[in-house]
Amino acid sequence: VTEFELIRLLKPALPGNDQVVDGAGDDCAVLDLGAPGMVTLLKTDAVVEGVHFESGESPVRIGHKAMGRCLSDMAAMGGLPVAAVVTLGLPEGWHPDRIEGIYQGLCALAARWRTAVVGGEVTRNPGGLFINVCLVGSATRESVVRRAGASPGDGIFVTGELGGSLEGRHLDFEPRLAEGRWLAEGGWASSMIDLSDGLAGDLPHLLEASGGIGAELRMESIPVSRAAKLRGARGDMARPPLLAALCDGEDFELLFTVRPGKAVALLDGWKAAFPSVRLTCIGRIETKPGVRLREGTGFRPMPGGGFEHFAGVEGN
Ligand SMILES: [Mg+2]
Repeated sequence: VTEFELIRLLKPALPGNDQVVDGAGDDCAVLDLGAPGMVTLLKTDAVVEGVHFESGESPVRIGHKAMGRCLSDMAAMGGLPVAAVVTLGLPEGWHPDRIEGIYQGLCALAARWRTAVVGGEVTRNPGGLFINVCLVGSATRESVVRRAGASPGDGIFVTGELGGSLEGRHLDFEPRLAEGRWLAEGGWASSMIDLSDGLAGDLPHLLEASGGIGAELRMESIPVSRAAKLRGARGDMARPPLLAALCDGEDFELLFTVRPGKAVALLDGWKAAFPSVRLTCIGRIETKPGVRLREGTGFRPMPGGGFEHFAGVEGN
């Protein structure tokens, strides 16, 4: 059973109430807790030894990643993070120094984004280390950006560069919180998602949420990272750089759509606001479902999907 099949199976039976604006199915849930004009955003996420990081990894980097994943989802909704609680599951024999290291990584990133850590829980877990972060944030009701909202004709944009995150960036990335809020508050993005499962894996989520529309990507426009290019030449994980850019997970960049008339103004505004962050238009939303990858005057098949998390399983 994949993560997405599981969501589809469980979602219909989840209880709701009048304060739920958007339940399961986006990067964060959206709640109305009564503050006029405001909504609360809620997210939970876990990292697990052997799935999201290797056993011998530095505790500081593990902590950073655990907090960063949640913050990246907050960024994808255009939210402002407020506070987090943390649950640690520890295998036997974990040294207190290593737990301190995890908290160091976790708290340094949280502090940088003025996110309070307001509690947590430690439990034993013989199966290996896991860290769960639950994050609450806020946004004005009208600025929240969802996966749903893309329309045919919208340009498709991506921040930064894609692929090769296994070379280290999946543990060191900086969540795009400033960028996400800027996009949301300026009303630039018609839909948005953060890239955790790779462009090939996450773009279909946005298209599905937006009503089953499709997309055409221009192959030569995909911003392929240097790490993805290096990976093309390296050992057992070798794969063509473009495939790495499309399918490697855990880029934690923002993928969003923009109404056709706004693209030029967006790029100008972006350059002024984030001069050091690359922003690329990689294609366009279309009515016809599915994702097509344009190469010159023809098309090449889109790889089947992103990786589900770190596992390093070769995709198809
Ligand atoms: Mg996400």
